[in-house]
Amino acid sequence: MLLRLPEYIDPLYLADKRAVLKGQIPLSHLDRLADMLHDDAGFLDVELFFEREGPLPKIEGHLEGALELKCQNCLAALSWPVDSKIKLGVVLTLSQADRLPEEYDALWIESETIPLKTIVEDELLLALPAFPKHAHACFNQGQNVNKADSLVNDEPSSPTKNPFSILANLKNIGDL
Ligand SMILES: [Zn+2]
Repeated sequence: MLLRLPEYIDPLYLADKRAVLKGQIPLSHLDRLADMLHDDAGFLDVELFFEREGPLPKIEGHLEGALELKCQNCLAALSWPVDSKIKLGVVLTLSQADRLPEEYDALWIESETIPLKTIVEDELLLALPAFPKHAHACFNQGQNVNKADSLVNDEPSSPTKNPFSILANLKNIGDL
């Protein structure tokens, strides 16, 4: 069953109401992750609890599901399980951010409402590796060997193609 989440939320209002949002967000809505995804079909489960702790409006919650990332070695699909806890303090000013308890990340609010997906994207971008790769050696082995061979063959016959001699030339130019 697909539980629709609101596209925009007012975190301060929701904190006052002690609101709970549960639902699913389509991966295709997560624009800031688009480059990392091999496939944007599917959804993530989102659970957000809003409340105030003293003067601090806060959001706690959970993201769960799986992403199909692009492996940075072979560009094939890489299934990446998502199981992330969210713990955010809503802040409007620098001094509020400074007073934020250590265990909270800051959610900066510049206007009354924010896209809900911002929270999901922020959390995922923090949690995901910069260069996701398969755990196994997923290089195209044939290509890899050929590349190594051609480097070795180039060295004695055509020294100008040797990347190290190009570097040396550049360095000489720099010295002049
Ligand atoms: Zn790979």
